[in-house]
Amino acid sequence: MRARITPQEAWMQMVSGNQRFIAGSQEHPHQDAARRDLIAGGQSPDVALFGCSDSRLAAEIIFDRGLGDLFVIRNIGHVVAESIVASLEFAVTELGVALVLVLAHDSCGAVKAAVNLCTDNPDEMPRAVVRTLQPIVPSVQWVWHRYNSETPYVAEDEIDADEAGRHHLRQTVQDILRASAILRDSVAAGKLGIVGCQYSLTDGHIKPIISVGPLETGEAVS
Ligand SMILES: [Zn+2]
Repeated sequence: MRARITPQEAWMQMVSGNQRFIAGSQEHPHQDAARRDLIAGGQSPDVALFGCSDSRLAAEIIFDRGLGDLFVIRNIGHVVAESIVASLEFAVTELGVALVLVLAHDSCGAVKAAVNLCTDNPDEMPRAVVRTLQPIVPSVQWVWHRYNSETPYVAEDEIDADEAGRHHLRQTVQDILRASAILRDSVAAGKLGIVGCQYSLTDGHIKPIISVGPLETGEAVS
């Protein structure tokens, strides 16, 4: 399905919704019975949001959106897996989204757990959790070895977990592109943008960290 708006327009809608949320001037659009009735026969969201499952990142709330606006996919630490790629490809090909927004956040428990896995004495964690968090480990090790060369084991009180989280966010965007020819082709054709953002738990602000495709994020991308 063809996208209905440009990646830039989709991004600006997300920015303005987030700004309303920060300012406490939400419009709470598309959250009533009329909207429910209108879209009962089919969905046509313009944005797919792939983010961490953290309960403080409630997608429609922090972007001031409503029913049928966002195609939301979340797991702990926003780690790419086949089910994630399939969901994103569905959103692009069948629903015509113009933007994939990857949402990380500061003080992420999944990143902290991945840091713990890199110490010399990791905590006991369920096997599924350990396996799921593995894509975060290289980012933790990259940040650790950037500043430390004496030991391969990470010291939890010496590493900047948020820096590891931002690196993992960039890697997540790259992982999505590597895993999906459909998304790569859509980006190359100018129909899809991907923006990786970090959400501040304290002030609710969305900061773009990496962007791919035909859009300007309007903030310095670091
Ligand atoms: Zn998290």
